[in-house]
Amino acid sequence: MHIIRSQTNNSSYPVYIGTDFIDSGLLQTLLPMPRIVLVTDQTVADIYLQTICETLTGFSLNLIILPPGEVNKNWEAVTKIIDVLVAFKHDRFSTLVSLGGGVIGDVTGFAASIFMRGINWLQLPTTLMAQVDAAVGGKTGCNYFGIKNLIGTFYQPQNVVIEIAFLRTLPDREYLSGLAEVVKYGMACDGEFFIWLEKHIYDLINRDPNILELAIHRCCQIKLELVQQDENDHGQRRVLNFGHTFAHALESATEFASILHGEAVAIGMLLATRLAVKLGLVERELLIRLYNLLNCIGLPLALPSEISSVGALYNFMMRDKKKQAAQLSLMLPCALGKIKVIQGLDLKCLEDLIQDYAST
Ligand code: ADP
Ligand code: ZN
Repeated sequence: MHIIRSQTNNSSYPVYIGTDFIDSGLLQTLLPMPRIVLVTDQTVADIYLQTICETLTGFSLNLIILPPGEVNKNWEAVTKIIDVLVAFKHDRFSTLVSLGGGVIGDVTGFAASIFMRGINWLQLPTTLMAQVDAAVGGKTGCNYFGIKNLIGTFYQPQNVVIEIAFLRTLPDREYLSGLAEVVKYGMACDGEFFIWLEKHIYDLINRDPNILELAIHRCCQIKLELVQQDENDHGQRRVLNFGHTFAHALESATEFASILHGEAVAIGMLLATRLAVKLGLVERELLIRLYNLLNCIGLPLALPSEISSVGALYNFMMRDKKKQAAQLSLMLPCALGKIKVIQGLDLKCLEDLIQDYAST
């Protein structure tokens, strides 16, 4: 088991990483008050709800089961949670528990942050993506009018419990998509971790719990260090957006329907690294290593078939919210584990990049 502490100006909380947390009674010790509202989605509920409820006997528990999927990460989900909090007369001493992937974590955290100006929140992330990314760092929110994460808050939970055994039941596609985000940490922040990933990739693909624990621990450590320096995402934390400007454009262009976030990040990292090679920032060897690792994981690396026009993808990219003063800033690798922010790129160069990628 690993415990790391998240430290920001306004908060400090532990992140537990390991297995057997649910049976060991950890949850009971982390919940100081008896009133809980547990939020989960239908798929996760079908697998884990009974076990979780059994460990929480003695607590007064309200349940909210939301439909699964990114399309349900909306304002209705947030109001459903608030409505239950109101209907059952919850107050500042109640705790919201989120049991699920990034969708459940984001909407539950958002509700926790606005109800009575903030109540306790315990996170139990159940996807690899949420365990290495969404559940640490305190970003909450939902999509609005079809725009991803348009509304939300920065709000930190009281505890994050990362139970690795949850990953056993995660569908392959969701799991591999999470591995792309793990690779991002190596590429963007820690070259030695990237080399370690190259060495242990088959253990990770096979979901070896000991190797997974080490990988998740390192990702959370990196993220929490960056969040500590830059909670509101204006400076250092932005290196974690490596591959994401391209990824968000891909997700928007496919209406979030056919490509998972991690799959889009994998292609986004390849595009960014290709661009870095083109600009002479890194050697081609790095692009090959990245490609080999992502390919070995089994991630789909071609542009999705419904992206018929490269121009459409490019237009979505130019709408990205990280665009500053009409200039796009991109996080590009300048060495293994190191990122440089590049601004004011020649737009033709970007168009050509996407065109080249599409045709090879
Ligand atoms: P992400 O963390 O990638 O944002 P979501 O919250 O969209 O993920 O969850 C992805 C899908 O995986 C959802 O359909 C969800 O119900 C399902 N899911 C989440 N955790 C598990 C799990 N441990 N086992 C099986 N399915 C899960
Ligand atoms: Zn991401």
